[in-house]
Amino acid sequence: MRYPVHLSVLVDHLKKLPGVGSKTAERFAFEMLEWPIGELRSFAEVVEQIPHKIKLCSTCGCLIALEECGYCKPSNSPHPLMCIVANPRDVFAIEGTHTFKGYYHVLGGLLSPLDGRGPSQLPIDSLKKRIQTLNIAEIVLALDSTLEGDATSLYLKQELSPCGVQVSRLAFGLPMGSSLDYVDGGTLARALSARSTF
Ligand SMILES: [Zn+2]
Repeated sequence: MRYPVHLSVLVDHLKKLPGVGSKTAERFAFEMLEWPIGELRSFAEVVEQIPHKIKLCSTCGCLIALEECGYCKPSNSPHPLMCIVANPRDVFAIEGTHTFKGYYHVLGGLLSPLDGRGPSQLPIDSLKKRIQTLNIAEIVLALDSTLEGDATSLYLKQELSPCGVQVSRLAFGLPMGSSLDYVDGGTLARALSARSTF
C-alpha cells in the first residue's frame, strides 16, 4: 500500500532537512497528521514568512530581522576588529562566547574546488573595500578546521595582508574538559605548536 500522494510529498520535503532520512521524515510526517488545524496553519505561516521576515544584511551578510543591521553599527574603537566567518550561523556561535567586539563579514561559503567553488566566488572585492572604509586593524579568521577552511584562510591571508591589516586565526587546541587520551593526533599536534605561555 502506498502513502496518499500528499503525505509522500510532505515526507519528500522533510527529507530535504539535514540529517533527516526517510524513516525520520516519515515519523515527522505522521506526527504532523495528529496536529490540530491551527497548529498546521501557524507552522505553514512561519515557513512561508521566512523570506519576508529574515534577511541577509547586504553589507556584512549577517542574518537580520529588520532593515537596520545591528552588526554594522559603527564601532567606538579606533582600531576595530573584523571577524570573517563562512556562514551566517557561525556569527551566532561567536556572539555566544560574549568575547568578540567588532565587525563581522560572512563569506557565504568556503573555497571548495571539488564543488566548483573557486576564489572568484568569494566576495573578496567588497571585503577589501569594507576593510578600508572601516579602517580595520585586525582580521580574525574564524573558519572551519577542514581542508576547505584551511585553503580559504590561506587565500584570505594572501589577499588581505597587502591591505595593511593584521590577519589572525582562531587558535587550535584541546576541547574544554577533554582528556589527552581521547584527543586525536592532529588536534594534539596543533595544540602543541600553538601552545601559549602559562
Ligand atoms: Zn550588517
